[in-house]
Amino acid sequence: MIQIDALPAFSDNYLWLLQDAENRHCAVVDPGDAGPVLAWLEAHPGWQLTDILVTHHHHDHIGGVARLKEACGARVLGPSREKIPSRDQALDEGDRVQVLGLEFQVIEVPGHTLGHIAYYHADATQPLLFCGDTLFAAGCGRLFEGTPEQMHHSLTRLAALPVATRIYCTHEYTLSNLRFAKAVEPTNRATSTRFDEVTRLREQGGISLPSTIALELATNPFLRVTETSVKQMADERAGRDNPTPTEVFATLRAWKDQF
Ligand code: ZN
Ligand code: FE
Repeated sequence: MIQIDALPAFSDNYLWLLQDAENRHCAVVDPGDAGPVLAWLEAHPGWQLTDILVTHHHHDHIGGVARLKEACGARVLGPSREKIPSRDQALDEGDRVQVLGLEFQVIEVPGHTLGHIAYYHADATQPLLFCGDTLFAAGCGRLFEGTPEQMHHSLTRLAALPVATRIYCTHEYTLSNLRFAKAVEPTNRATSTRFDEVTRLREQGGISLPSTIALELATNPFLRVTETSVKQMADERAGRDNPTPTEVFATLRAWKDQF
């Protein structure tokens, strides 16, 4: 049994800590800051950090890697196409890696950055996805390096994972994403319900993650670009027809950038 907890970092990042209590081994995803992980290890004597999983090269995801590697000797896994400090194993599409006894499959998800990868653990009851800044709860990452085509394709692949898949993304952006989702789909009941729930949760200091593919399919406008009402809203916004789902996606992404 692997327990997964969020270690908050910076203003809205989560460092996901995977824990194997039987062996007292743990792994961390995207440690932009070593501090919270080292503090956790200090508070949990006897535990060892064995693996560091990296999704992409942005500083808030790799800033703590070198220090953690030096302090703990953990193995560093990261995308082959990006510069990742202290990387031991470079990963590409379809690669499989064992982390704390779980097998993770590498999915290349270009868009936010060009070499961005996600880690997927296929499991009949509890599939897991660590997707960095690609798919967010009710939103998606900004296009810093990739094209709308690439990001739309990446999101489409993630959306096709089993609906029970738990989504561990890196940022607590859910509430502002839902504000935008409501603007895109003012009549989507699932979206308004989720907005109310997350509002309450955040008021109580809770975290809104992980999400699930099922929840994202129902409320994430970036996964709903083939819905007629979403296309109509994108057309209205752009002042022209968006003939393909990719163009609907591109219009939504540009709108969200200045929302
Ligand atoms: Zn990023
Ligand atoms: Fe980030």
